[in-house]
Amino acid sequence: MKIVDPTFEILDEYFTSERVLEQIELAGRICYKSEDKITEDSAGPFIKRIIERGHESVLEMGNFVFDIEVDSENIMHKFLEKNPRFNQIDKIEKKHFLISGNPRSFRDLARICPEQKIVKALLGHLTDEFPVLYEDLRPRHGWLMPDGVAVRRLRPKEIETLPLDLFIRHRTVLVKLVINRAVSHELVRHRPASYLQESQRYCRYGEARFGGEVHYIRPCFFKEGTPEFELWKRAMEEAEVAYLSLLKTSSPQAARTVLPNSCKTEIMVNATLSEWAHILRLRTSPAADPSMREIMLMLLPQMVKRFPKVFGPIEEALGLSQ
Ligand SMILES: Cc1cc2nc3c(=O)[nH]c(=O)nc-3n(C[C@H](O)[C@H](O)[C@H](O)COP(=O)(O)OP(=O)(O)OC[C@H]3O[C@@H](n4cnc5c(N)ncnc54)[C@H](O)[C@@H]3O)c2cc1C
Repeated sequence: MKIVDPTFEILDEYFTSERVLEQIELAGRICYKSEDKITEDSAGPFIKRIIERGHESVLEMGNFVFDIEVDSENIMHKFLEKNPRFNQIDKIEKKHFLISGNPRSFRDLARICPEQKIVKALLGHLTDEFPVLYEDLRPRHGWLMPDGVAVRRLRPKEIETLPLDLFIRHRTVLVKLVINRAVSHELVRHRPASYLQESQRYCRYGEARFGGEVHYIRPCFFKEGTPEFELWKRAMEEAEVAYLSLLKTSSPQAARTVLPNSCKTEIMVNATLSEWAHILRLRTSPAADPSMREIMLMLLPQMVKRFPKVFGPIEEALGLSQ
């Protein structure tokens, strides 16, 4: 067995350099721990296979923001009647709107209300720009550009200049966390975010690529050298022995039933700044689980560094700002 510390990585450079396909592939491969298969041109074929398999949550690992102008507000009202619940929509001024969402949310719009002018305009644009994400949904004669709607995808630099209230609702950040399974279970309770997680069903920790051993997160509760730590360590060793023995005759999904909460997992979290602020506020509070608080207190200063106006007040409220 191997004991590792909790860590995180803010994967924002994919957003700022507009490498959405690469971001989706990197995040998607965490499930299978097959990041070593990433090459310069592997993103397209990877995404195609994901779509064929219907594993569309992988397509939540990106974000598009559109500026929309309509000739008549009625066009937007008709669209809103369809209840597009996985998109953020804001009115900037009369006949002028902002709509954002992950790539999957726009695929759902194509299925749920393809007759809507706004959907036709959005999907026409997206299919031209990112065919691998949308070409399977293209109507027989293509998305006919409707009258009365103009859509324009905002570039990262334009998103950065949005007023703060719009910026926090439309700007997303992808973070990779290496934490234990109890903490990941708490994290995924935050609903307006998207997740992809290392799968104990697909990963066989007995294999050489995992070092043939189970990885555990160092518990923040027990100091090394204390009787409590030794007891914890023994329990982990015994769980590993049972797991590796079961793997000789059973599948990883069967063997994993003996793995404990301390097991290391890797999880990708893609969320708007507004949801990250909610998560960080709740999970850095002294009331939070200490293991969760430990990683969130590590993440908070890095988020403050990147987005001081959004996360600075959380740090201040905790009395941590310098
Ligand atoms: C200290 C602490 C102790 C906890 N103890 C327990 C426990 O004992 N048992 C337990 O089951 N959970 C527990 N939780 C988890 C907690 O109940 C929430 O599920 C979790 O924190 C997600 O946060 P949230 O519901 O505020 O918001 P999120 O899921 O992050 O959603 C963000 C916001 O979106 C809105 N929203 C999202 N989905 C809905 C919806 N379906 N309906 C209405 N509004 C919605 C709300 O405005 C919400 O504030 C605990 C959490 C903390 C921090």
